[in-house]
Amino acid sequence: MGGETPTQKKPTSDYPALAPKPVGQLISGIYKDRISQFYAGGQWEHANLRAMMNEGVAAGKPYVQLWVWDAPNLTRPTFKEAVSHDFKETSVGEWFGPSWSTHWFKVVLKVPKDLQDKRLLELHWDGNNEGMIWTEDGQPLQGLTGGGERVEWILPESFRDGKEHTIYVEMACNGMFGNAPGGDSIQPPDPNKYFQLSKAEIVAVNPDARQLYIDIWIIGDAAREFPSDSWEQHRALKTCNDIIGAFELGNKDSLKTCRRIAEEYLGSNINSAKVYDSGKEPLVFGVGHCHIDSCWLWPFAETKRKVARSWSNQCDLMDRYPELHFACSQAQQYKWLKELYPYVFDRVKEKVKKGRFHPIGGSWVEHDTNMPSGESLVRQFLYGQRFYESNFGDRCQTFWLPDTFGYSSQLPQLCRLAGMTRFLTQKLSWNNINKFPHTTFNWVALDGSQVICHMPPSETYTAEAHFGDVKRSMSQHKSLDQDSTSLLVFGKGDGGGGPTWQHLEKLRRCRGISDNVGLLPRVHLGNSVDDFFDKLERKAESFVTWYGELYFELHRGTYTTQANNKFNNRKAEVVLRDLELITTIASIKDKSYKYPKKEFDEMWELVLLCQFHDCLPGSSIAMAYDESNAFYAQIFKTAKSILKDVCKVLRVSEVKSATVEDGIALNTLPWHRKGLIDISETEAAVACGDGPFLQLRTFKASEESPEVSLRKLADGVFVLENSQLKVEVKAGCVTSLYDKSAQREIIPKGQMANQYVVFDDKPLYWQAWDVEVYHLDTRKELPCGETTVHEELKHRVSVITKTRISDKSSIETIITLSASIQGEQSYVDVSSKVEWHETMKFLKVEFPVDIRNTEANYETQFGYVKRPTHYNTSWDMAKFEVCCHKYADLSENGYGVSILNDSKYGFATVGSLMRLSLLRAPKAPDAHADMGTHHIRWAILPHQGYLGPTTVRKAYEFNYPLKLLSASGGVAGSALGAAAEPPVRLTADSNPSLVLDTVKRGEDDEDVSRGELPKNKGRSVVLRIYDSLGGRARGTVATTWDVTKVSKANLLEDELDEVVIQDGKFDIDLRPFEVATYKLQLA
Ligand SMILES: [Zn+2]
Repeated sequence: MGGETPTQKKPTSDYPALAPKPVGQLISGIYKDRISQFYAGGQWEHANLRAMMNEGVAAGKPYVQLWVWDAPNLTRPTFKEAVSHDFKETSVGEWFGPSWSTHWFKVVLKVPKDLQDKRLLELHWDGNNEGMIWTEDGQPLQGLTGGGERVEWILPESFRDGKEHTIYVEMACNGMFGNAPGGDSIQPPDPNKYFQLSKAEIVAVNPDARQLYIDIWIIGDAAREFPSDSWEQHRALKTCNDIIGAFELGNKDSLKTCRRIAEEYLGSNINSAKVYDSGKEPLVFGVGHCHIDSCWLWPFAETKRKVARSWSNQCDLMDRYPELHFACSQAQQYKWLKELYPYVFDRVKEKVKKGRFHPIGGSWVEHDTNMPSGESLVRQFLYGQRFYESNFGDRCQTFWLPDTFGYSSQLPQLCRLAGMTRFLTQKLSWNNINKFPHTTFNWVALDGSQVICHMPPSETYTAEAHFGDVKRSMSQHKSLDQDSTSLLVFGKGDGGGGPTWQHLEKLRRCRGISDNVGLLPRVHLGNSVDDFFDKLERKAESFVTWYGELYFELHRGTYTTQANNKFNNRKAEVVLRDLELITTIASIKDKSYKYPKKEFDEMWELVLLCQFHDCLPGSSIAMAYDESNAFYAQIFKTAKSILKDVCKVLRVSEVKSATVEDGIALNTLPWHRKGLIDISETEAAVACGDGPFLQLRTFKASEESPEVSLRKLADGVFVLENSQLKVEVKAGCVTSLYDKSAQREIIPKGQMANQYVVFDDKPLYWQAWDVEVYHLDTRKELPCGETTVHEELKHRVSVITKTRISDKSSIETIITLSASIQGEQSYVDVSSKVEWHETMKFLKVEFPVDIRNTEANYETQFGYVKRPTHYNTSWDMAKFEVCCHKYADLSENGYGVSILNDSKYGFATVGSLMRLSLLRAPKAPDAHADMGTHHIRWAILPHQGYLGPTTVRKAYEFNYPLKLLSASGGVAGSALGAAAEPPVRLTADSNPSLVLDTVKRGEDDEDVSRGELPKNKGRSVVLRIYDSLGGRARGTVATTWDVTKVSKANLLEDELDEVVIQDGKFDIDLRPFEVATYKLQLA
């Protein structure tokens, strides 16, 4: 080429050769701290973003006029009743109270001319307590929280006409968390709190300022919470400071500039639900939720209003935020809404139909799972699922208990049998000893049934939808080997509330950051909980497994606190079981007798309600227990009248005394039963046989050598003896218990059983809930007073002892031994009457036994669980107090001892020492929990062999004593007739571990149904049978009813497989700990 002359290179860069000025690096700490100053209250609020939040405010007359009517005597009247009264004029600044009272406000609003065309008009109402906005004609629109939270209600467009418009506000004098004095919300409520109406004004909000506030909040979080070695953190800090720099007080346009700067970090889609349409794979699935404790720091009565307030808010939010999906549990709360707030219920129903509002959980309430009986758990599902199916057309697929205090071992099986394959909780994140190791896993029941369990890694069910909640959804995820997705359950809760608009705005920005900048796990809204689990289910085979109970390493005091409530729970379960059996028999025997389904429904619904996770566990305020006491009183009253009616049909009557000829023993247990029954104050008869009515025969002192004797060894020392046991009692304690046939002494030498002990009981914080491990160091034996003879009858002897606990508290203990009956294991029966007036003490009773095993056995629903008797590891030690049902047992090869009880749930076995928990004395949230008189029964049952049917059956018999009835001529004179053949009978082929636990009528039988779901033609009987001891269990059911078809069913009574029946008999073959339901269709 050539010929070209090379040109001289000119500098092409504008980069100045000389530095024009010094520029410094952002000093991280200072620039981070500066961010919150931009929107903080206090000294900055007149010069920062807050000063531009509103474009105008109208308060006082003539724009906001107020009148009030105070509901009398802490009543909660309906709208209709309230507005029928005269209202008196009132104003902002007035005080309203006392605690729990209700005040209705008539509010007349007139939007001033200069605000009429503003972009966003709201009523800001702050009574510093909860409230509800009603239309003039009585439609509840939206709840209010108070104290600065959820104080806004958007004015309808029609209010912009400059005319007067009337609404009503129902004020409830309690905060979201009740009425505790001061800052400690679990202290007993202050009955005399007053609330100031601090705000009632029409506000024209500047939407740009409001949105910018959320922008900088979230970008600020990114600046504070992203790691400092990430560019994403530095960029966030820079963005915040650029926004602050662009802000000009009083210049509305500067707000728009600030928002444009924010968009550079957040992306441009954050102002609508479109932000979720990026198509990028999300990891965190946000679901709105509102945990409403059915009672807790407020009574049940207030919860009914909390439901209406919270859920109407959600319906309103859904209209404005199309991405919001909201899940809510507890069929009971839906039922309250349906009955008391039909307008809100219809709104909810419409949202359910649109797939936005998701009924979840499948149970009646979010119940405790430690203490309810197996059948109670079944009914939680039966009543829950039936309500959902009949009102919303669908059953739930996910069992939902985010806040319950531990999860018993048969739940996965019961879930599967109730049509649910998934389970959500997170409470184990509260464990204060060991960290639970999984987020997503297969949880396996005693019988091998499994459900997918997910515990949201954000470790809360009331997430505020913070940046940090989204971040923790990944950083705390413990199952990333198997799956990296998680649920984020957000929305205000415990006291209700649910998501707020702030939560939804924050999440839009979090998603924006993930798509635009990265680093934050990508959150998605718009899916349901079921959608989330559907994805998990596809890969569930690879998930790790957890076998057995999800023991909660906290709140162990809840097995004992509020003893009276627990006593009532057990008695109600017993009475319902009894009544269902005999009314089933009666309704089939006599077609004119109507099975009392309505009464059973009402009773069960109350029992199930009282099993709510703050009621039965004992962690509610006194007002809630006043209510539950009334519920139980109603249950027992109804039970009495059902029994009276059914007795008439069966031609028997309840009596206190009877002759052997006319007396009948009512037996509701499904095995051959033989036992003593009192027929007068001093005499007993022997009842023996199968079925509901047992014939009596005379108890003869010599017959089958049933005599029992009482000998005095020395002052206050007695020997009680029958043909099986020899019991030495000294100063109220059992110093020797000798089993004659096994030829062994049960009490270790020098030790004493039935020894009362008391502990100092001051947990770290949650008084009613917790007993902490260190209470064991404070053990004190209670010295007993002198023992004297109480009863010396031919069939029964007993001694009585008084024990002083303190100058206010004492125990009267009766130790009884009855004549032994051949073939029936004898036991030592103890009944105590405790006067209990202590402060932060824990009363227990101890049984040292000469048995050695590293594991003890505890009855649970439909089976038993083993737990360690030692403290080898922190996991073992964490179980220093555990839950049992009717029995706890310590067995070694060939022999064991069971402790039976009639109303207790707390137990511990340490080495060879067994310890039944009796009473606690926490002072919060109920200052009087457990104070007063208690009647408690327990028994020491020695048995040959390992834990077996003897314990299972005696524990039932201890809880279901024979009941004396009479008919002229005895059983022959009853409607069942001379043979009194049990209409249904279960015989075990080998090991008698099968238990026929429940006999009831089919829910939808045409003569039983209350019309919720389609009726079944004809009559049917439902049997629930389980293997109680953990082995393959076979047996035969024989029935005298005219059965045409037998099906194995699920808990919801859907027929699954047909079972062959021949000559009124069909075979049972269950896997270990299986719970089986059979439906017998009658001709
Ligand atoms: Zn709760």
